[in-house]
Formats: sequence, structure tokens, C-alpha cells
Amino acid sequence: MTADDAVMTARALVLRDLEATRAANAESVSALEESVTTRRWWTSQWAEGTAYVAGLIAQDVQDSMLGRFGRWPLCPICEAAGAAGPHALYIYPDLGGPDPTWVCEESGVRVAALGDLPG
Ligand SMILES: [Zn+2]
Repeated sequence: MTADDAVMTARALVLRDLEATRAANAESVSALEESVTTRRWWTSQWAEGTAYVAGLIAQDVQDSMLGRFGRWPLCPICEAAGAAGPHALYIYPDLGGPDPTWVCEESGVRVAALGDLPG
């Protein structure tokens, strides 16, 4: 996969998760586009970063959402079980790596692969 393919794949995965959680809107999508632009430059400078880019783009969007809307994505599992108040998922591995996965920050349970959040 070329760096550019990796960035476009990452964009599609994060967009899908935004849509699945009904968080896709003009601001979140523009945060995604900003991250894609930055990370495309970054992977052009560091080809090994290709494997990390999807997790990093998801984290960029999370950071941006936190400042504007609050935590995203919220954990769909504990909430359904009534086990805990609303809390977020985080990307594992947290410094970026292949096969980024959403993990519940309370229980540590793996919820879904990036791009595969339940709707
Ligand atoms: Zn949870």
C-alpha cells in the first residue's frame, strides 16, 4: 500500500465511524480533512509511518471533537449494559500501529476495529 492509499483508506475508515455514530457533520468532517492533509505530508516524509497513519488520523479527529463537541466515540457496550456512565473509546495501540482498534477506556474491552463501530 502506498502512503497515499493508506491515508485515503484511513480517511474512509474514520468517516465510516463518524457516520455510524451519527457524528458526521460539517465540523467533524472538516477536522478529518485537516488531519488527512497533515498526515499525508507526514507519511510523505516518513514512509514507515504508513502503518501508523489510520490510528493517528482517528486520534486527531478525537482530539478535535473533544474540543468542540465532547468525547467521541462513546462506548456503546457498557452503556447498553447499564454498567457505567458515558465514557469514550480509545484507539489501541495508542501511539499508532497496524490494525487500530477501538477499546473501551473503562473496561479495556475491544469494541471494534477502526471503521467498524456499530451504528
Ligand atoms: Zn465501556
